[in-house]
Amino acid sequence: MIDIIVIGAGIIGSTVFYELTKQVKNVHIFEKNKQAGLEVSGHNSAIVHSGVDPVPNTLKAKYNLMGQAMYEEYAKELETPFKRIGAFVVAKNDEECKHLDILVERAKLRNIPVKRYDVHDALMLEPNLNSNIKEVLDMPTTAIVDPTHLSAQAVKKGVSLGGQAHFEEHVIAIHERLSHFEVITNFGMYQCKVVVNCGGLYADKIEALVGEPTFSLEYRKGEYIVLSEKAPQTSKRIIYPVPSPLGKGVLYVPTISGRSLVGPNAVDVDDFTPRPILDESVHDMKNKMNQLLDNIAYEYEIDRFVGFRPRVETDDFVIHEHPHVPYFFTLAGIESPGIASAPAIAKDVSTTMLLPALKARRS
Ligand SMILES: Cc1cc2nc3c(=O)[nH]c(=O)nc-3n(C[C@H](O)[C@H](O)[C@H](O)COP(=O)(O)OP(=O)(O)OC[C@H]3O[C@@H](n4cnc5c(N)ncnc54)[C@H](O)[C@@H]3O)c2cc1C
Repeated sequence: MIDIIVIGAGIIGSTVFYELTKQVKNVHIFEKNKQAGLEVSGHNSAIVHSGVDPVPNTLKAKYNLMGQAMYEEYAKELETPFKRIGAFVVAKNDEECKHLDILVERAKLRNIPVKRYDVHDALMLEPNLNSNIKEVLDMPTTAIVDPTHLSAQAVKKGVSLGGQAHFEEHVIAIHERLSHFEVITNFGMYQCKVVVNCGGLYADKIEALVGEPTFSLEYRKGEYIVLSEKAPQTSKRIIYPVPSPLGKGVLYVPTISGRSLVGPNAVDVDDFTPRPILDESVHDMKNKMNQLLDNIAYEYEIDRFVGFRPRVETDDFVIHEHPHVPYFFTLAGIESPGIASAPAIAKDVSTTMLLPALKARRS
């Protein structure tokens, strides 16, 4: 009998698997793809946010802050790159400067170092900023990672600690029995005491395999333009506008691989079928970016990609044991700041929910 089965090897499932293998030997992870971190975790901005943005009293705020504090050490432990390159939030007018006031107040309460610069001082630090901007908020703790590599490393380390990883194995049914679950995949049937659903865009469908669904997912598409590593870097830091209710807006992001990203946009969609990225969307993103930053080397565009944010109505992460199916846990609606939060979610959920549940079921 397996102790705990983790479904999904995105950044959430992979880090949960790794944390569990530190405490329990008999943990298995199932991933329908060939490798870890290829879905939502492979199609995003890959930023470890400072923790200023999430609104107070949310799981997003709690785990972003905890994650930011532990990331550097965690990345070392996983032998995956982590670069603290910092970010500038750019205000273009007086209205946006008022929003910076809110962020500064929040940063103070959360003990996050930030600094405000007028346009003159900001231009000394990032000479390609558009000179029509009004002010910037410097967030030096913001960092970048490679979430696909991080996910793969977490699975690899978990396996080296005794866990088992099953790739190209798709969970298709789950039966609740008196003292255990039967998890059915395209390869066979496995019995386990506890199940953790980290299914990303499919988490609602996976929860529905055991009982009444307690939430449903909605999807928000985000498209990107990728500039080659040969493109001259326009900014050392991540540059982003003052956030809106739709998210952080269109950013300029230097990546771990040396490439740069411009994006994402944010469009609510009915499903997550990838469709070609229209020139119109690209034009719109470039227009938005050009209000913040000059001299972006768009002639070095080498690719475009799209990511889908799995969202729930409450606008927060869903992290719970199913109310009617004990020992079945779901981690869903993990949109941004899911990358920044992953190590903290994994550690906290393992120690406060999963390991106690396993102990209770064993006794
Ligand atoms: C456009 C965009 C930008 C973002 N930018 C940032 C950012 O800068 N910083 C940040 O912190 N966060 C960001 N995020 C959010 C972040 O990407 C997500 O929170 C995170 O990747 C979610 O990880 P996950 O493990 O929950 O999901 P996923 O990575 O999708 O993992 C779920 C896994 O489950 C597997 N799976 C599903 N069903 C089954 C099944 N039945 N059997 C077996 N396997 C299954 C899937 O194949 C997949 O690999 C962004 C997201 C988007 C879309």
